[in-house]
Amino acid sequence: MTQTSQGSSFHAMWRELLPIGRHPDSHGYRRFAWTGADTECRAWFQEQAEARGMSYELDRNGNQWAWLGDPAAGDAVVTGSHLDSVPDGGAFDGPLGVVSSFAALDELRARRTEFTKPLAIVNFGDEEGARFGLACVGSRLASGQLTVEQAHRLTDGEGISLPRAMEAAGYDPDAIGADHERLGRIGAFVELHVEQGRALDLSGDRVGIASAIWPHGRWRFDFRGEANHAGTTRLVDRHDPMLSYAETVLAARREAELAGAVATFGKISVEPNGVNAIPSLVRGWLDSRAADQASLDQVVGGIEKAAREYADAHGIALDIVRESFTPVVEFDHALRDELARILGKEAKDTDFTVPVLGTGAGHDAGILSGTIPTAMLFVRNPTGVSHSPAEFATEDDCVAGVLALADVLEGLATS
Ligand SMILES: [Zn+2]
Repeated sequence: MTQTSQGSSFHAMWRELLPIGRHPDSHGYRRFAWTGADTECRAWFQEQAEARGMSYELDRNGNQWAWLGDPAAGDAVVTGSHLDSVPDGGAFDGPLGVVSSFAALDELRARRTEFTKPLAIVNFGDEEGARFGLACVGSRLASGQLTVEQAHRLTDGEGISLPRAMEAAGYDPDAIGADHERLGRIGAFVELHVEQGRALDLSGDRVGIASAIWPHGRWRFDFRGEANHAGTTRLVDRHDPMLSYAETVLAARREAELAGAVATFGKISVEPNGVNAIPSLVRGWLDSRAADQASLDQVVGGIEKAAREYADAHGIALDIVRESFTPVVEFDHALRDELARILGKEAKDTDFTVPVLGTGAGHDAGILSGTIPTAMLFVRNPTGVSHSPAEFATEDDCVAGVLALADVLEGLATS
């Protein structure tokens, strides 16, 4: 394997994408669905497809496809990711997968690989859900996991509905919906993604294969007490829900540590929200994820039990509502093993190993895994930081990712 052709094509594409949607002060990315930055990213994708003589398709749900070979032939090998971002996100989450897909194709053309199956590169729309609050809208719509009625009810922070936002960007919101025929053409989907953790850094590997996406959910905790004057109300007379909330945050940390899981209270709203007022309501949102369902149940059950005890002790009413839940996603075992076999064979005379790891983050590949065989490759992220401008992967590791993806595509699309 050489590191010349695919390296230069990767870097040229990377440089082109870098300025799009980057905020001048935070240096974070603000590429939200159906905005100007999103449109620029989409134009870039179409240019890449056309520059390679691929046939370009925009599907009814706003996902972009670049095809090599006849899409209707079936059993296609598809790779890709997304180009949108979280608020002030990093450069790698999403774009690394799309850029690596085109670079991998360039590498295979340099190898004069003859494909026996159609090959496609995809950019899924609105993966992060930064604008409308629901992640993976493009793949959820295509797979039928999000109904048209549900999608039409989504609104952004300014009250603009998804249909109006799509219309403003020049798309037809009445055309959205399940697209089983398009997904039915796909025999395997492989998504390359920057790792959102430090497993590869700790194991010393550049590239890994995903085993599963952890089950995860969001719970809303409403602690209701009694608003009162912060200066004149004796401590013993207070019903302060902030105390129960604070104790619950500490319990979440403790329970997560016990189970080797994660639990986060990252969002809070307080009423009346006055600096000199004891709160009447503290509403906190818990996000928790664990390697398996039993561990997640243990963590969330432990936090709920502790929260109820703290609330009782302070005379606080507590309501807990599960707002969303995604069960564990096990990636297709046969495809995962095939990837390990391909990468292991390529690496037989080096010290390259292919670790298989779980992840706590959701992806389009996870959404599609219920419909088609899917797999994921992760590229090392030395700090593990993600959803932040500090998100990073080295140039050498990015090129290693391109080569691994090229090997995988070659193995799958020539068999
Ligand atoms: Zn992503």
